[in-house]
Amino acid sequence: MPPETSGQMVACWARIRARLRDEVGEVEYRTWLRQMTLQGIDGDEAVILLPTRFLRDWVNSHYGDRLRVLWQSEDAAIRRVEIRVAQAAMPEPVTADGFPAAPRPEAPGLAESLAPPLRAPEPRVSDQRSDWVVPLEARFTFDTFVVGKPNEFAHACARRVAERPNSPGFNPLFLYGGVGLGKTHLMHAIAWAIRESDTARTVAYMSAEKFMYRFIAALRSQSTMEFKETLRAVDVLMIDDLQFLIGKDNTQEEFFHTFNALVDQGKQIVVSSDKPPSDLAGIEDRLRTRLGCGMVADLHATTYELRLSILQAKAAAAQVLVPPKVMELLATKITSNVRELEGALNRLVAHANLFGRPITVDSAHEVLHDVLRAHEKRVSIEEIQRKVAEHYNLRLTDMVSARRARNVARPRQVAMYLAKQLTQRSLPEIGRRFGNRDHTTVMHAVSRVSELITQDAAFAEDVALLRKMLET
Ligand code: ADP
Ligand code: MG
Repeated sequence: MPPETSGQMVACWARIRARLRDEVGEVEYRTWLRQMTLQGIDGDEAVILLPTRFLRDWVNSHYGDRLRVLWQSEDAAIRRVEIRVAQAAMPEPVTADGFPAAPRPEAPGLAESLAPPLRAPEPRVSDQRSDWVVPLEARFTFDTFVVGKPNEFAHACARRVAERPNSPGFNPLFLYGGVGLGKTHLMHAIAWAIRESDTARTVAYMSAEKFMYRFIAALRSQSTMEFKETLRAVDVLMIDDLQFLIGKDNTQEEFFHTFNALVDQGKQIVVSSDKPPSDLAGIEDRLRTRLGCGMVADLHATTYELRLSILQAKAAAAQVLVPPKVMELLATKITSNVRELEGALNRLVAHANLFGRPITVDSAHEVLHDVLRAHEKRVSIEEIQRKVAEHYNLRLTDMVSARRARNVARPRQVAMYLAKQLTQRSLPEIGRRFGNRDHTTVMHAVSRVSELITQDAAFAEDVALLRKMLET
């Protein structure tokens, strides 16, 4: 028997909706509740309709109790509120996995990025791949990502997620690290790899800023429902530079709900940020907690070795001849991040092409004059002496003393070598700072240490470690 409606009931329903609207506010109301219709009263049960399963579930879990209480206050005979999916003339299109197809967007802002709908009712084998994304950067693939100690863990995690999204323990994948260290590169690489292995899977990648912008646009055009449903229908959601959401409470809230909905459906989330979740002050606690409960992987500052490998890879990819000495120069001087390193190399290449001249150490100094100066290490000779002495368990005075015992002389040579590498001081100046030694002594120290580095792996590691400590 179909539930019955009457004029009185319709009036009750109008009052209930008005109260609900007052309680939850206009935005919430429009987003979730506006589309409710009263089907009727069936015994002690009020039956309310909503157009999609998604909405029905949402309203049921968030407003179900409230609706019941409000009904009871209007009509004590009502004991339950049943929320159903409206059966339109055509059944609601539901995809093979039972998820409702995203409705067609109305807002122009969304339409542009949503057409065709993220998940059309057709079977998934259709090649309607529709990523709600900023276009992916073609260069940012796993192939072009150079792996070294500082990023190997993050890289391995990214690979794992790309191969098997939603692996236990890897959802969400939270990548963090300083600027220009490869977070965006890795995220795009994951997206490319997933797309390649399964073209039907929808991957949404966007910056947190874009996420916020879209969300606000949706609020303005009253299309938040489409926004929500669209995002909740993707297979993989990637949000880059999450720190942007610090202090943006509404957007965080929305992201939190999206996040939960997707994780509950077994969808993969990948997030990047410049800080670990625990340091994201200004992000709501519950969101912070959830962000940290999958895999958290950091991209460390680059090492000299990684910088050198990256330069070699980029030069090879660009098919330009860059002398090893030039690469060493760049890898030594430009330590801030990979983006700057890349920028410097590109400038050299552009300059060489423009003037038809080969790249040399001199031309590099000339072209990158400003960059090199900006990156000039402010490491002082004294700092080097102190660190080296500490490392080899010597006193600082041993660095300037006349003692020639091997256990003192060798570390002293290392310090001279590092002084030459890490400061702009001339050989005579370095000599003076090491107990008034001659510049030829410094020269000898530099060549001796360089030689030992190629012969003795343990020694090389020591020197690399010292260098790293001084550089960072
Ligand atoms: P982030 O998002 O962490 O600020 P990006 O991913 O945008 O950094 O990286 C900056 C630039 O450095 C990009 O051009 C990227 O390709 C490059 N890059 C960073 N790390 C690597 C790496 N390990 N191998 C190759 N290129 C890298
Ligand atoms: Mg980035």
